Amino acid sequence: MVEMAGLNKWYGEHHVLRDVALGLARGEKIVLCGPSGSGKSTLIRCINGLEPFHEGDLTVCGTRLDGSAQALAEVRRHAGMVFQSFNLFPHLTVLENLTLGAVYARGEPEARAAERAHGLLARVRLSDQTLKFPGQLSGGQRQRVAIARALMLEPEVMLFDEPTSALDPEMVHEVLDVMEELAAAGQSMIVVTHEMGFARRVADLVVFMDRGEIVEAAPPATFFEAPATERARTFIGQIS
Ligand code: ADP
Ligand code: MG
Repeated sequence: MVEMAGLNKWYGEHHVLRDVALGLARGEKIVLCGPSGSGKSTLIRCINGLEPFHEGDLTVCGTRLDGSAQALAEVRRHAGMVFQSFNLFPHLTVLENLTLGAVYARGEPEARAAERAHGLLARVRLSDQTLKFPGQLSGGQRQRVAIARALMLEPEVMLFDEPTSALDPEMVHEVLDVMEELAAAGQSMIVVTHEMGFARRVADLVVFMDRGEIVEAAPPATFFEAPATERARTFIGQIS
């Protein structure tokens, strides 16, 4: 699903990604963690083609990101993205937020798109909210709409960038539950999160970044119980 080697990126003088190599197999779940500013968002945005990189090879769902507009469009068709801030269209209903892209970008008949949208909204337990506007929903509900909207693509890989960190604590679990169900259904995913319970239950691999490089990559039991580096130990101490 994702194959990356020797990825390097700079913001001016700042070397934000240092020789990053990462692979994600079909059905695999990776949790990406690390201190603030370590490059997690930049990395996940590179995978979705939202950020260019300077060196390295990156192939997503069979398409090599070579800087062409065609590759970008292809990758975005196969990779769904969910951000910390929900990025919903405020003037559209929940249902319209889901169907807009399918109808206008993919040319799907409106009735079919609406049928799929209703199915996905049931899956994220929002069947009773379809005609509301984002402003009428709680943060947890909005994030579940954002997840359902990303799923409208039928993405081969889902990318989550701190999907629960803007939520009130009592709403975190309703979003994590939906993500866990997706994972159990076999969805390939890369999730930037500091939710350790989620990482333990769901991740095949925990990848720890610090200062632009991957410092450790290990199954959750190994990573949390026996981190190999002082940097990871310090980080785990801070988030637990
Ligand atoms: P993380 O998601 O791990 O907190 P980011 O990928 O957002 O880290 O940022 C990594 C580093 O790159 C930080 O030092 C941040 O300040 C810097 N950075 C992020 N985006 C930009 C940008 N558009 N221009 C310049 N520097 C940036
Ligand atoms: Mg970030």
